Amino acid sequence: MVGEISMSRYQVRRDKFRRHFKKEGADCFLVTNFTNVTYLSGFTGDDSFLLFLPDRELVLSDPRYTTQLQQECPDLELEIRSPGTAMFKSIQKVLRGVKSRGIGFESGSMSVHMHGHLGDEVPGVEWVPCNGLIEILRMVKDREEVQSIRDAVAMAQRAFSVARAGLRGAETERAVAHGLENQIRLFGGRGCSFPPIVATGPRAALPHATPESIPIESHGLLLIDWGADGPDGYKSDLTRVLVTGKISPKLERVYRLVLKAQERAIRAIRPGVLCSAVDAAARKVIAAAGFGKYFGHGLGHGIGLDIHEGPRLAGGCDRPLRAGMVVTVEPGVYLPGVGGVRIEDDVLVTRDGHTVLSDVPKEWDDVHAELG
Ligand code: ZN
Ligand code: ZN
Repeated sequence: MVGEISMSRYQVRRDKFRRHFKKEGADCFLVTNFTNVTYLSGFTGDDSFLLFLPDRELVLSDPRYTTQLQQECPDLELEIRSPGTAMFKSIQKVLRGVKSRGIGFESGSMSVHMHGHLGDEVPGVEWVPCNGLIEILRMVKDREEVQSIRDAVAMAQRAFSVARAGLRGAETERAVAHGLENQIRLFGGRGCSFPPIVATGPRAALPHATPESIPIESHGLLLIDWGADGPDGYKSDLTRVLVTGKISPKLERVYRLVLKAQERAIRAIRPGVLCSAVDAAARKVIAAAGFGKYFGHGLGHGIGLDIHEGPRLAGGCDRPLRAGMVVTVEPGVYLPGVGGVRIEDDVLVTRDGHTVLSDVPKEWDDVHAELG
């Protein structure tokens, strides 16, 4: 439109964040968490900080990133230090002459070493510890972010279909994990959003099993927890359990129970509902069947630029859900030495409820896999 200058979505985020940190008594802010720098600037590299001054914003980086920064965040000023110069020297240089009431910083991310240097070498400045301010903004996704997560879900699902279709008994857990990673890359992703968990038989009882060089064979159950890291850094996170051989009636019961618990929890998701209440919706179902003590982790977590971010769906988390949040719902029951079941999907909170973003089949009749 003539005469109208469209603001980048990163500028919109920065303006919003500026309003937030002002409430903490700071008029400047140093962002040191690289994921938060990406969120507020669009820069996808690392080793760079974002500094808010009272009247402008700049990225502090080194010459390896000059070109990338110019391409990815053309609307930001750059302060490129010469090779061998420490980051705090750059900060010192930029802050010279700046009149500030207080500079907020991310106390959960800045190193003690950096904090010491800044305290000693940038005199006359009040450093205001803040933590989690940007993470709170990141919990609610905008339309582009939701689309990026949808894309990451689609890549993960396509990779899974390929892996599932080619499953052979002699294939090792590690080979299945590598296959998933490879497919995600072929479909355009950066890779897996975390090292996939592929656990066969009794090993499925280990919620965080590392894939081993053991053949998957027909051990009854095969648990796969995987996700894609999309081209712009947004993640997906899914878990399915495939039935690869004969399993006991007890494990079949556990499968159906976990699925029921997951469905109950998903049904509870809508704006205003507390995260703890969604966790409780699943936990109640599992506890009522007598398996409560075998569900030893929280129900889910937010996903976005990080594989684990806010909000947490867990007991004691009294944050209300808001439209735009994207959370995993992943109840599990783990029977030591026997096997385990976890079923995980990615769910978007919408204005009038929720949308499940993933749709890999999970009904009992859909999860029987023939091993070649
Ligand atoms: Zn997962
Ligand atoms: Zn997860």
